[in-house]
Amino acid sequence: MDSKTQELVNKGEMLPLMEEFYTIQGEGAHTGTSAYFIRIGGCDVGCHWCDVKESWDAALHPPTHADIIVEHAKEYAETVVITGGEPLMWSLDHITSELKRNNIKTHIETSGAYAFSGIWDWFCLSPKKTKLPLERAYLEANELKMIIHNKDDFKFAEEQAEKVGKSCQLFLQPEWSKKEKMTPLIIDYVMKHPKWRISLQTHKYLNIP
Ligand code: SF4
Repeated sequence: MDSKTQELVNKGEMLPLMEEFYTIQGEGAHTGTSAYFIRIGGCDVGCHWCDVKESWDAALHPPTHADIIVEHAKEYAETVVITGGEPLMWSLDHITSELKRNNIKTHIETSGAYAFSGIWDWFCLSPKKTKLPLERAYLEANELKMIIHNKDDFKFAEEQAEKVGKSCQLFLQPEWSKKEKMTPLIIDYVMKHPKWRISLQTHKYLNIP
């Protein structure tokens, strides 16, 4: 990467874009609503069950002007979801201020393991054991989405729920490859602990991106 591009990436005026697409949010509090997804490359959190491992190496994804991404989003959506990868590896101040200037709602899906940036209408925090969130992420969280891959993950979910604010919505979501085994346990858990809600990856059932 040349020094000029690197400088723009450092300022968040360019971002390593993996893909962008208009679809239906499949998970969590905004399930079933339309949104323009911006998937930014780069992640070193290392979840072994990650379903977007091709996002991990940021160098594979071309630095793209944030303003161009905003222009694309404007054509489609009232809401943008910025995801990854781990999007907070990059400064998201510029892209979110441009989205807000265009009256587009800004949502993020993050592990919270990197420094906070951006202006958010909805902050979905999905903590991972391999690289825990920073304190600021717990304060910002509107939604806590815990992925349940095995029984121990219920304990981790409760530990993380103690760290978010009272108004934060709490979700348990079966990890896709374990959904047959874990979904019945989640149903049972939510009935016993009603502060939690179930989140399913409905986009995968609907066979949409
Ligand atoms: S944080 Fe997300 S992108 Fe990164 S490894 Fe975990 S599931 Fe994959």
